[in-house]
Amino acid sequence: MPVGLLRFWRRSVDAPDTDQLPRLVARWLAPWPTLTNDEREYLLELVDVLVHELRWEAANGFEVTPAMRACVAAHAAMLVLSFDDGLDSYRDVSSVIVHPSTIVRKGTKYLGDGLFTDDDDPIIGEAIHKGPVLVSWDAASFQARTPDRGENVLYHEFAHRLDMLDGMSDGTPLIPADDQFDEFVRVCTDSLRRLRRHEEPSVLRNYATTNPAEFFAVATEVFFTRPVPLREENPALYGVLRDYFRQDPAGRRPMY
Ligand SMILES: [Zn+2]
Repeated sequence: MPVGLLRFWRRSVDAPDTDQLPRLVARWLAPWPTLTNDEREYLLELVDVLVHELRWEAANGFEVTPAMRACVAAHAAMLVLSFDDGLDSYRDVSSVIVHPSTIVRKGTKYLGDGLFTDDDDPIIGEAIHKGPVLVSWDAASFQARTPDRGENVLYHEFAHRLDMLDGMSDGTPLIPADDQFDEFVRVCTDSLRRLRRHEEPSVLRNYATTNPAEFFAVATEVFFTRPVPLREENPALYGVLRDYFRQDPAGRRPMY
């Protein structure tokens, strides 16, 4: 599988050495022990490109360490591990901006349904269409170490970037085959509707009910962190995510 063309991303000198990556990725990426040797080797190739060629920025005097780059890049690479076009899905990511902790958005924000607010908006990550991905390191590092909680801002924000590839943040990523696309939309729409009724407890946290884009991002988090409970609770949703990502994490050996 090709690694992808990222020639327009500048080469960076402040990155982990290639020979440090196996140790760093093994430390931060929960599914690492579940991957085959071929998958590990390819994942490391993807991570190596991301840590060196993606533009990395630190917010507010913070410093982005090699370990932080490796952690963020490993989660981004995990999502596209089985795609044919390698890192091409992230070609529009202008930079990754790492904040030390919660990011507070100020100014007027659109809430949807014609509503606006001027309230401060604390967030732990954000994916901006054709712009940067922002993440809070304290949230990202905590969640990377506690996958059984089923939350991971890194999977979440890079899932948004996959969703945005068709120009819309609508919860439906690029799926070329019509019948697979139709099935994806049908299953996600039905799952979101059921989740909004709150009829039964779910492994998907309530934030998934915000809109279809957040549903896809939250479902992706759970697919990669708690795949077995997701498959048990909603086999149809697990199935369309498995077919889209071309990975079967519940079929691998347990990650924790
Ligand atoms: Zn989101």
